[in-house]
Amino acid sequence: MKHIGFIGLGNMGMPMVENLLNDGFEVSGFDIDETSLKKFVSLGGKPVSFPNLLTLQCDVLFTSLPSEKVVEKIYFGEGGILNKHTGTVLIDTSTVSPDLNHKLKNTADKFNVKYLASPVSGGVIGSKNRTLTFMVGGPKEVFDEVSPILERLGKNIFHVGERIDSGTTVKLINNLLIGFYTAGVAEALHIANKQNIDLDSLFDMLNVSYGQSRIYDRNYNNYIAKSDYEAGFTLNLLLKDLNFAIDLANKHQLALPISEELLELYGKAVDDGYGNKDMAALYERVKDQSSIKSEGLL
Ligand code: NAD
Repeated sequence: MKHIGFIGLGNMGMPMVENLLNDGFEVSGFDIDETSLKKFVSLGGKPVSFPNLLTLQCDVLFTSLPSEKVVEKIYFGEGGILNKHTGTVLIDTSTVSPDLNHKLKNTADKFNVKYLASPVSGGVIGSKNRTLTFMVGGPKEVFDEVSPILERLGKNIFHVGERIDSGTTVKLINNLLIGFYTAGVAEALHIANKQNIDLDSLFDMLNVSYGQSRIYDRNYNNYIAKSDYEAGFTLNLLLKDLNFAIDLANKHQLALPISEELLELYGKAVDDGYGNKDMAALYERVKDQSSIKSEGLL
């Protein structure tokens, strides 16, 4: 039985860890957040005091981290995990830029370390229910080596390509669409509300019409209908990913006018204090903006 390491025991990481522990794996982990560590220990995980200790103990080491800065610190910083060959396979499930995928790969190659860039989709529910989608970039033989473990965590495991950033490219396209749908749902529901259309009935009707989407289902039923925006997937994280997607478009000198508008829209929502809420809270921001406009303040 393999010994698994996990760095980043947050909304996505913790349920994955819980599933691995339930399957009987030994799991060691690291996080800077005390509350997360306590929960990890209560589930049966073994904490370590420095990330690089995990590369000495574990066959496979996952990371699920909130920003590029943190990923760089964990991989390259003092006590980091990418500075010598130990035989551990490193799998980064965080969403980072293609540039960072390449930077990590170049260093991994230098130390003869196996590294896969494997962003995931499916949200916290997917993480809990083992229905995540893994979009993996990197060597196929390394993918084959770890796919039995990925199959315990997700339902759809794709080797996108040998190119290290291939999975990330797919993931960024996915999250660009999430940005579109989330904004569309927010504005559509706001209009419906103003027209006194019952939002539950609207969902039932649009759920069997072309206006349906998985994001409408997710954002409405799990968050907007309950007026509860505890994340989930925060607006901060969505904005991070939209920035990566737009950077990619800019590299190819593409004009994507709606995507650029979205970036501005989400940037302002984050500036106005919505960043730590689930992305579905964009609906509340749209409502707030409308009332400011109707009061002649916009
Ligand atoms: P999160 O903020 O809930 O979890 C991140 C964890 O990393 C936290 O427990 C935090 O304490 C820990 N952390 C922060 N700095 C650290 C450090 N220096 N050392 C060790 N641990 C540190 O974020 P999340 O929602 O779990 O997302 C993690 C990654 O997965 C992100 O890259 C995100 O874009 C991606 N993702 C999230 C979702 C989602 O629905 N939440 C879906 C798909 C992909």
